[in-house]
Amino acid sequence: MDVRGQLFIGGEWTDAADGAEFTTLDPATGAPLGRCAAAGRAEVDAAVDAARGALADPAWAALPAAERARLLWRVAELIERDAAELAELETRDQGQPLAVARGVSVAGAAEHFRYYAGWVTKIEGSVSPVSFPDTLHYTRREPVGVCALITPWNFPLMIAAWKIAPALACGNTVIVKPAEQTPLTTVRLVRLCEEAGFPPGVVNLLTGGPETGRDLVGHPGVDKVSFTGSTEVGQEIVRASAADLKRVTLELGGKAPSIIARDADIDAAVRGNVQGALLNSGQVCAAYSRFYVDRRRADEFTEKLAAAVAALRLGPGMAPETELGPLVTDGHLGRVDAMVREGVAEGAELVTGGARAEGPLERGNFYRPTVFAGVRDDMAIARQEVFGPVLPVLTYEDEDELTARANDTRYGLAAAVWTRDLSTAHRLVAGIHAGAVFVNMPAIPDPAAPWGGFRSSGWGREMGSYALDVFTETKGVWMHHG
Ligand code: NAD
Repeated sequence: MDVRGQLFIGGEWTDAADGAEFTTLDPATGAPLGRCAAAGRAEVDAAVDAARGALADPAWAALPAAERARLLWRVAELIERDAAELAELETRDQGQPLAVARGVSVAGAAEHFRYYAGWVTKIEGSVSPVSFPDTLHYTRREPVGVCALITPWNFPLMIAAWKIAPALACGNTVIVKPAEQTPLTTVRLVRLCEEAGFPPGVVNLLTGGPETGRDLVGHPGVDKVSFTGSTEVGQEIVRASAADLKRVTLELGGKAPSIIARDADIDAAVRGNVQGALLNSGQVCAAYSRFYVDRRRADEFTEKLAAAVAALRLGPGMAPETELGPLVTDGHLGRVDAMVREGVAEGAELVTGGARAEGPLERGNFYRPTVFAGVRDDMAIARQEVFGPVLPVLTYEDEDELTARANDTRYGLAAAVWTRDLSTAHRLVAGIHAGAVFVNMPAIPDPAAPWGGFRSSGWGREMGSYALDVFTETKGVWMHHG
């Protein structure tokens, strides 16, 4: 496979003016997979110009809502037409097992376009009961403008859809900047947007690294940045957008606690937590990544959890029997391994895993799923986002201590509670600071439900009607008719 990705600016596919390119690797083998153009400042300027031009072009600005809805719906159909090809591309570029690429990434991307196609004709204003005589006040929901959509490498296709679909539903124009490690499905998605028939300049694509992202965020012609990625880069984006107070939404890191109460069904909790922790090899912002287990159930839970993760079939995402794929890059594997070493050095008990896979998998970025017992709240593996297949088990004596411990983190993206007791569930749900709390289930996003974090896990919410709020500006109109 040798895929070549170009930039898409104002309806034209083009290389960078200076010919700059970067290579993306197959994480299962380390072999080169494709090359993409690396956009520089000149291309960022051109893309912003194209997006600004399209914003004012009646072909887009005056397109009836029902027509805009049809374009979005068409993208969903095209994603489904090309589902097999997109899934394979996602698996080869990102590493995730093909079943995940099909069932989560591609299906999720199509559903987002379909969901927001439905919203286009329902973005309403309202009439406000102002107290001035003979005055009608109503609101209009207008596009924010040119939106820079910057995505990470863990679910590239699906996260691009999370942003592109609502941005276009609200009438914005977009410049998409996928992560340099996994750009290929975003290039394909933009081709599908072109095929669907969006006017030139409405959807633009800039592949490239952090520098391309920086140039975009710093550009005065960009009105809004929607970013998913690390908390550190999120903070940098906030600083860079301060000069012109760009609208910014951020979906950042997490360190989701999963609480296994005394009355929990341990077998169900083990199954659900394996999924919740190890989907996409733990490279999930909402991954369950610290387990608080009632001390009386801890041995049983840890033993069963360790047996379940050790039994998972590790292998290339393209192999049908694979349950756990490689990590995205060799560098990322090195970071995960360093965190594991730190856990061992801090005195946590390594129950299973803890090393790179050997033998035939050695060439790829395969890491054995790892369970730690005897973990303390102050250990790095309990506090920092690992973004890999590492499951630290902590214990608790009393439910009263739980919310304080679960909330003792800078993050607040997701959390889970495993219990059969309704009052335990309600008490913990109310006490935990997180954007999404899952009771007796793994963390899964859905286009209809808000997604986003408290505290350093981000600003704003994606999905549902919430995304419409962040991709529109509200204009109040006052009409005196006396
Ligand atoms: P990252 O922050 O390193 O990079 C994300 C994107 O930002 C990439 O496209 C990158 O090129 C770009 N970028 C880097 N520096 C930039 C800058 N200064 N200005 C503008 N753009 C810049 O993140 P990553 O390593 O690709 O992804 C992993 C992180 O993403 C994890 O922390 C994870 O928790 C988070 N994440 C969050 C969610 C969520 O919904 N909250 C979902 C997926 C991933």
